[in-house]
Amino acid sequence: MISFSLEGKTALVTGANTGIGQAIAVGLGGAGAHVICAGRSSCNETVGMIDSAESLRLDFADPMAAREVFGGRIIDILVNNAGIIRRADSVEFGEADWDDVIDVNLKALFFTCQAFGKAVLAREGRGKIVNIASLLSFQGGIRVPSYTASKHGVAGLTKLLANEWAAQGINVNAIAPGYIATANTEALRNDPARNQAILDRIPAGRWGRPEDIAGTAVFLASPAADYIDGAIFNVDGGWLAR
Ligand code: NAP
Repeated sequence: MISFSLEGKTALVTGANTGIGQAIAVGLGGAGAHVICAGRSSCNETVGMIDSAESLRLDFADPMAAREVFGGRIIDILVNNAGIIRRADSVEFGEADWDDVIDVNLKALFFTCQAFGKAVLAREGRGKIVNIASLLSFQGGIRVPSYTASKHGVAGLTKLLANEWAAQGINVNAIAPGYIATANTEALRNDPARNQAILDRIPAGRWGRPEDIAGTAVFLASPAADYIDGAIFNVDGGWLAR
């Protein structure tokens, strides 16, 4: 199991205060990493769940917010998890709901990857990036145009960055979670008809839990994944296989 160990590594997880980001931070910590729990909200709860962790304020209201984060210390693993969603019929979808989602989910993700990549390349080190994509990196969804555009973009950028950096020691991959019970999907779960329609389509027969994503993140962050580049792993209870 040694190649799955993150002992001696430092990982930074964005949006680590709650949901999938919190579960990934705890998973990386459990595999031995020191975890920098980054968020616009306090990450104290997550830090308290991990043996070796610290918190960092990082608000992607400024999509370039991470530009200074990776200089001056060695960070081996970056998990780009922070993300938002806005729902409205496409005929009514507003410009702010377009810009806010693209800024956090896509622009901030790219420039955070860039800042991390620059630091790793400058020290000729090794690095792992795990981006959080979505089923809507592959499917259209409904009433979420900026989210779908952003997550298709995350899949594309994951492949582009893998092409540029794979030979230079940085593995760039993504996880596409299925329907996971977090704040992001609360509106869907609160709508009985939508909730049932979603459950009926999931071969596993249940909503995913944030912890369901953690193992794949640990794997992609570990030396076991050294020859995996530009891949997008579905962790969806079988949704896309249906
Ligand atoms: P969540 O509980 O709503 O978590 C979203 C995280 O992103 C929170 O930590 C949130 O911080 C953070 N965030 C939002 N805006 C930010 C900003 N401006 N600056 C910094 N951080 C910000 O939802 P989640 O389901 O865990 O989502 C995590 C990721 O998984 C997202 O990229 C989402 O698109 C993706 N995903 C989720 C599902 C699902 O079914 N839940 C499926 C596919 C993909 P605050 O708590 O401060 O708002």
